[in-house]
Amino acid sequence: MKRQFIREILDVITADTISFAGGLPDADLFPLDAFKTAADRVLSEPASLQYSRSQGYAPLREKIAERYCAAGFETRAEEILITTGSQQAINLIALSMLPYGVTVELPAYLGALSAFRLAKVKTEGVALEHDGIAMTPLRRSIARTGAAYLIPDFQNPTGLRYSAAKRQAVAKAVLDADALLIEDAPYSELYFDHASLPISATMPERSFHLGSFSKILAPGLRVGWVRASEANLRRLLVVKEAIDLHTSTLDQRLIDAFWETEGLDRHLSSLRIHYRAKKNALSNALRTQLPDFVFDEPRGGMFLYGRLPGFDTKTLVNRCLERGVAFVPGSEFYPGTPALDELRLNFTHTDPAQMHRGVGLMADAYREQIVS
Ligand code: PMP
Repeated sequence: MKRQFIREILDVITADTISFAGGLPDADLFPLDAFKTAADRVLSEPASLQYSRSQGYAPLREKIAERYCAAGFETRAEEILITTGSQQAINLIALSMLPYGVTVELPAYLGALSAFRLAKVKTEGVALEHDGIAMTPLRRSIARTGAAYLIPDFQNPTGLRYSAAKRQAVAKAVLDADALLIEDAPYSELYFDHASLPISATMPERSFHLGSFSKILAPGLRVGWVRASEANLRRLLVVKEAIDLHTSTLDQRLIDAFWETEGLDRHLSSLRIHYRAKKNALSNALRTQLPDFVFDEPRGGMFLYGRLPGFDTKTLVNRCLERGVAFVPGSEFYPGTPALDELRLNFTHTDPAQMHRGVGLMADAYREQIVS
């Protein structure tokens, strides 16, 4: 496997670089004090350091199931498997459920492409439109692959959210083709206006719904989950047992204790408010300082994506790195023929004053490249 250019960009970033490149949550918003209290409680029980069940800590699975039910997606704790990040859920599905391949969005989430490549699962790309994936090519593609891996809420890298009509159309297409849906939803709770019902809710037997605590609590904990039918979960469980026996008992119990005492909603509301303000700061900086950049306003998530029409963003990123600002060129998110004039900006990690300066530096590099 080739090392990704994005990793090379992240490697050259120093403490002084203004980075729009990674996908890091804002560390200032980690609920450290509440986690300290939770850790005290959890570490008073020896079971927190013991081996535990492969499917995951039952009280945590129950809480996740209840949250699905409250959102209108009937779910039992038996239908939840805790995974070591949602990245592992993609690995498990790739290794056990995709004999013919999988259809992915273009541009695509790089981590999923790597997981599919590692498991030797063939991928076919279908372009994203403003309201979600293009339906005619999706139908044709899943007839061959039998599965679609989609991120309908605030996709990585595009930040795009599927419309209600497109969600319905996707569910119908997947069911008509007797295919599987892998709905990756790590950003779903980070909406700025309203929540959306998972597509999986309308097809619970033929879908995997992937969740994660990485973007809503802390990615260093490495805890995510899959919601699927019990029969499908059993197939993932066999693979999970072979890979890591179970996800860290301590990390699961920490999250459970945090959830038990604090709830999730207050923390989530605060994240939404902070991230919306940061998104606005970035979007305003772009409109005023780099007006040639064309983009859709994100409605949630962590990324803003757009185009500098006709312009090579891979050359631009090198000029930007010299000036101390980083982003990821869109070409990195295409497994085949890349789009050359797109780029992704993360808005959760950098503070608004730095954002303004960072966009200014990007604009300088852009002007320099135009005249040279
Ligand atoms: N899916 C998507 C779409 C992501 O953006 C990420 C993280 N960048 C992941 C899965 C993996 O997240 P984690 O393993 O931390 O839950």
